[in-house]
Amino acid sequence: MPKKYLFQSHYRNVGSSRFGQRKPMGRPGVHIDPARFVNKAVEGEVIENFTPEHKFQDFKIDQRLITAIANKGYKTPTPIQDKIISHIIEGSDVVGIADTGSGKTAAFLVPLINKIMQNPREQILIVAPTRELAVQIDEEFRSFVKGMRIYSVVCVGGTSMGRQMSELRYRYNLIIGTPGRLKDLIERKMIYLSEFNTVVLDEADRMFDMGFINDTRFIINGMPRGRQTLFFSATISRDIERMIGEFTKNPVRISVKTRDTSKNVEQDVIKIDQGKTKLDVLSNLLNQKEFNKVLVFGRTKHGVEKLSKMLIYKGFRAESIHGNKNNSQRQRALGMFKENQVQILVATDVAARGLDIADISHVINYDLPSTYEDYIHRIGRTGRYNKRGMALTFID
Ligand code: AMP
Repeated sequence: MPKKYLFQSHYRNVGSSRFGQRKPMGRPGVHIDPARFVNKAVEGEVIENFTPEHKFQDFKIDQRLITAIANKGYKTPTPIQDKIISHIIEGSDVVGIADTGSGKTAAFLVPLINKIMQNPREQILIVAPTRELAVQIDEEFRSFVKGMRIYSVVCVGGTSMGRQMSELRYRYNLIIGTPGRLKDLIERKMIYLSEFNTVVLDEADRMFDMGFINDTRFIINGMPRGRQTLFFSATISRDIERMIGEFTKNPVRISVKTRDTSKNVEQDVIKIDQGKTKLDVLSNLLNQKEFNKVLVFGRTKHGVEKLSKMLIYKGFRAESIHGNKNNSQRQRALGMFKENQVQILVATDVAARGLDIADISHVINYDLPSTYEDYIHRIGRTGRYNKRGMALTFID
């Protein structure tokens, strides 16, 4: 079915010269064609049904783990889980090309927990680009291993080093951390890389974008050569290929990623008419009943903070997450949004990356994303797990 680039009609309204002059806001040299942002999902489209080849019981994994998966309510494997789990069990290096929302966390956690069950002395390192993602992985991990005497430690920046250091003195099987803090703890001899035989690099593309490549290289190069490496990325570029070549050995590649934006997300643009402000338009939307759990994206930390304050001033229940907040402030804001204590979360791209929050009704791009990749990541926060979501992009 041909895609309708709804944007184009608005594009004529605003006059092409304005976009011609717009400087790319992100990485230098990245040119954004706003027409690519919005391809309207076809109304009422039947969501494609995937038939997995495996049931969870088919994988050679411990019965207790199969029970834990069932208790979590996972009935059938998602495509990435279906395709990658057996390779990880066999001990191969893997490259998984998958977005958040694909079930990639369980795709690596399930076989790795099984590895720990087979050898309780096994130690595994998971490297993630953001604190939020690390915490999210840990939450999923803990929900699987309840009562199994398998332990994890989260080592991320912005939280007390002392507490992490004391946790590292106890027995653990899994460390989940961000590159900078991990490196710090390794240099303080709190983590001995030679004891880790398995490593997961999650969202490697983001790690690269955020400038963590050297810390990541330091970590990986300190690990045994015979380790198993699991490499996950949402996108593949020349830099990422180089990382794959450097860090993995004959990896099995599994891609479940489509370039197309999510079929579950209806997308549209909103042109801000003259005489109106983006804030007016946003407020009108937020007053509508269906806008019950809304993630709003702004470009800068300062802008995000200011917007959330203005929304609160207007009487909305809003929170914000961005890099100027410390870890506990961010976790608190996230918790309130997750539990519907606030209607709106205003976020920067970096802070919202990889967030897995159920039932976000709308994503609003208050400021344009810097790259197409960022657009995809933003709108992927809604329309998760076969639910429909809506993404709206403001154009002024
Ligand atoms: P992820 O891509 O790892 O961020 O996972 C996205 C969401 O899918 C999370 O809320 C998971 O709890 C959920 N999930 C993962 N695997 C399954 C599955 N096999 N069945 C149902 N939900 C799942």
